[in-house]
Amino acid sequence: MRVFPASIPLDGRTVIVVGSGPMAEPKARLFATSPARLLWFTGKTDGPVPSDIAQYAKIERRMPTRRDLRGAALLFIAGSDGVPAEALARMARRLGIPVNIVDSPASSDFQTPAIVDRDGIVVSIASGGAAPVLSVDIRAAIEQLLPARIGLLADLARELRGTVKAVLGRFGDRRAFWERALRGKARDLALAGDKSGARREMLRELNGERGEAAGIVHLVGAGPGDPDLLTLKAARLLREADVIVHDRLVSEGVLNLSRRDALRIDVGKTKGHHPVPQDTIGEILVREARKGQRVVRIKGGDPFVFGRGGEEMDVVRAAGLAVEVTPGITAAVACAASAGIPLTHRDHAQSVTFASGVVKQGGPDADYRALSAPNSTTVFYMGVGAAPEIQRKMTEAGRSPSTPVALIENGTLDTERRVFGTLGGLAALVEREGIAGPTIMIVGETAAAAASQAAPKTLEQFA
Ligand code: SAH
Repeated sequence: MRVFPASIPLDGRTVIVVGSGPMAEPKARLFATSPARLLWFTGKTDGPVPSDIAQYAKIERRMPTRRDLRGAALLFIAGSDGVPAEALARMARRLGIPVNIVDSPASSDFQTPAIVDRDGIVVSIASGGAAPVLSVDIRAAIEQLLPARIGLLADLARELRGTVKAVLGRFGDRRAFWERALRGKARDLALAGDKSGARREMLRELNGERGEAAGIVHLVGAGPGDPDLLTLKAARLLREADVIVHDRLVSEGVLNLSRRDALRIDVGKTKGHHPVPQDTIGEILVREARKGQRVVRIKGGDPFVFGRGGEEMDVVRAAGLAVEVTPGITAAVACAASAGIPLTHRDHAQSVTFASGVVKQGGPDADYRALSAPNSTTVFYMGVGAAPEIQRKMTEAGRSPSTPVALIENGTLDTERRVFGTLGGLAALVEREGIAGPTIMIVGETAAAAASQAAPKTLEQFA
């Protein structure tokens, strides 16, 4: 360990920054919203101070005196012209104040680490001043790993620390309590922003009350398939999951983000190639959560867009269990982006509608008059099998047979395929191209935009 990352409490302390410009500003910004009092000596001849810092700092347009320095916790000196860095450093050291001369590690008492700031939790990455760029990259990686609200959880722990100590006399009991409290349901609630719920949960744990059920079900959107299109939150939930219930649209690349020892349940297909019935999926979610497991029910795209997420949420709630929903990038949005098709356009499409090509047996059909309105884009999910009906119903409802159509199969995956045509030739296009994988159908003028870039051969169809 070549450097030791000590942490300095900032509550009620004073931090002083001397100098101005690009060396001094980042240091001042670091402390602007901290609980420390920020004194910034910019020197005489300087321009305006950034307002996001100025509102939190006391600005002095001169150099500090010995009196100014007295009692400060830290001193940062950005040595530009006119800043007597050496003299100031000497004066501060005599007062026992640790000094950082920006960009000069050899003459500093301490170095500034790269910092991941989550309020109550602060991570510092130190390279002893040797490789700041490396530290910054490591910081970026940690930023992604750490939930945004982990600080809230730390705040809560700080608030309850005294109470817990009073109730649990033995150190071992306290540690066991914190392990349960900070890894269980309270943690989920805090990370979802529900601080009072998290506090209630912790107090219940402290009083030795077992909640009705400790487990939780997360309904999570996996996005269209490319793991890069997963949200940070979905990636974290996958890493933390004890049980993962997934279907066939969730790619292996996404599932591989989970822990190796997590239980994976594939409800996409059974032996007879039929998907597991919806009722059974609900039973699995409830059964696993009742065991106290952290269950992630992960679905392709977004759980609330043609994903039956609403039904699963109801089942879990009805069982008295906690359920939380994490959105994902839905296939329409992902496929449009991938193919370069704007879903709305000021000249061609004032609205966009997501529709399903298949409807529940005996259930209501979509309103094709509405789906066929001019100046709009209609995106069909599960439309391949219904291509002839879609073609017929839309043209009967008044949409021109010459309306451009784009089909994106296996969007965002390595196997992605795009084909273009017109509404009047939709069924024939599906047939001819042998479209079989999950496919998004985009109907509307903007579908031609992609055709003209991606497949110039078909351009004459729209001429
Ligand atoms: N909840 C999902 C949709 C599930 S319905 C979402 O929000 O995306 C299943 C349909 O989604 C498929 O029939 C297909 O139309 C579409 N789909 C899902 N993933 C797709 C992909 N990678 N490429 C093209 N279409 C996809």
